[in-house]
Amino acid sequence: MSVDNISHLGSQGLDELVPSRYAVQVGGIEVLVISDGVLPIAAETLAYDTDSADLAAWLDDKFLPQDVLDWPLNVVVVRSGGRTILVDAGLGVEFPDFPRAGQTVHRLEAAGIDPSAVTDVVLTHLHMDHVGGLLTQGLKERLRPDLRVHVASAEAEFWEAPDFSNTHMPAPVPDALRSIASRFLDEYRGQMRTFESEYEVAPGVLVARTGGHTPGHSIVRLASGGDRLTFAGDAVFEVGFENPEWHNGFEHDPDEAARVRIQLLRELAATGEALVATHLPFPSVCHVATAGDVFRCVPAAWDY
Ligand SMILES: [Zn+2]
Repeated sequence: MSVDNISHLGSQGLDELVPSRYAVQVGGIEVLVISDGVLPIAAETLAYDTDSADLAAWLDDKFLPQDVLDWPLNVVVVRSGGRTILVDAGLGVEFPDFPRAGQTVHRLEAAGIDPSAVTDVVLTHLHMDHVGGLLTQGLKERLRPDLRVHVASAEAEFWEAPDFSNTHMPAPVPDALRSIASRFLDEYRGQMRTFESEYEVAPGVLVARTGGHTPGHSIVRLASGGDRLTFAGDAVFEVGFENPEWHNGFEHDPDEAARVRIQLLRELAATGEALVATHLPFPSVCHVATAGDVFRCVPAAWDY
């Protein structure tokens, strides 16, 4: 670690005295889960078309507040075959209403990962809580000129004229999502590498389109030496284990999103592989178990 990084670490103060990065090994692949922070989200957005008493009971069971929740926001860094891959980039720092999110860039640096070390970025989708970090002022100049940014072609196409008719978001959100996605496309078009259904970014690192949440929503599947881990992006939320058919207000095709979720959770329960997802509580490494017709998230023991 350079002297610069040490002074940076030392200057972060008490707000950094929370666990914000967690390393896990998948065979020969190194994975680092980094917390971008937390976002406030109205509880009703988690299940807008569910009986409000059912949602209230679920929140109560989980000791969560009934009105506004802190929604966790995780990204991951993957190292394989000499490549350093950032999967999603967090919210960025230009939203004054969300001061507790947008930590990805400085937490990467605190972990000793300079932006110039990142060879690839994989974006699960172009919602601002996944792509906003790339628009952090001054960041693009610090990234390598040959950076590859992997996005499903259906996702890039969708944001040219996005459809919000099946979403249920608070009023200012769709405009903010449109604006951030279009700024991302403007700024990173030259680095973008689109794929149709899947693409192997590095040995054992496969990005695979699922659709549902957004038309080009994708997940990242890691496999090495018999170990497997899936980064599910927004295909799985905390509420979705016990209530996989509940519709989240951010889903552009909620029925398809539920189908994707159920199929993925069934598969992960069958294989026993590890799951990490954007909005599960940090560090979010867990396994999926079945519980009758639904699922359970079984947190992995922390590996010290
Ligand atoms: Zn999200």
